[in-house]
Amino acid sequence: MILMGDTGRGTNAFRNASSHARRAVVGATYSCRVAPLRRLHEQASRKLSTETMDCLNCDGPMPPHIRSGSLFCSEICKQRADTVRYGRRVYRDGRINDPLVAEALRTKMAFAVTDGGYPGAVRELDPATRQAVIDRDGGKCVLCGQTGTEIDHIANSSPELSNLQLLCHECHTKKTQRNLQPIEPGSQADKTWSELMMRIRSPEPLRACDDEVGWPVEWRKIAAERRLADVGNAVT
Ligand SMILES: [Zn+2]
Ligand SMILES: [Zn+2]
Repeated sequence: MILMGDTGRGTNAFRNASSHARRAVVGATYSCRVAPLRRLHEQASRKLSTETMDCLNCDGPMPPHIRSGSLFCSEICKQRADTVRYGRRVYRDGRINDPLVAEALRTKMAFAVTDGGYPGAVRELDPATRQAVIDRDGGKCVLCGQTGTEIDHIANSSPELSNLQLLCHECHTKKTQRNLQPIEPGSQADKTWSELMMRIRSPEPLRACDDEVGWPVEWRKIAAERRLADVGNAVT
């Protein structure tokens, strides 16, 4: 898995991305004297919700197997949009100044800029499997012996018991951080990092799926519009 590390390099990447994003946002505001960002955003969400059926995160076409009314072309696009909204929330309410929250955002970003994150559906464990791991490990973190609270996938996304272990939150976070690798400057992951940071730091959401306030209502509307448009397409 190629991911960003928890070392100084990770912090630098984060700072660089932030200042890069700030410059990009300042530039955008400057060149948009005629069309303020808000109007651009409104145009963008209108276009995205009614005129196209493309992925809300990347504007790419939907693969044929994706079901009607879908908003994202892939799990990773959904994950990127989730990460942008999380980033926008913690910047807005000031929680980004809490080192633990800043670390959590870096970790989410690291997973989101690569395809390294396991799909949410694969990571969800059924209650019986969870309980089996807790029972087998005696309810304790297998690394430090504290009360275990989280199930860790040891090597991959397989839900086999042999690939699962019980950890406490602290040990789980440390393990996740240790597995992250530095991002190569100029790599695709580096570019995606800058793009996501720009979307996080933008005063107005740049995409419908970035709107940390409106999204819980907005996504249902867009999904419904898309399902309707799909029915229309099928009839004509
Ligand atoms: Zn996409
Ligand atoms: Zn532990």
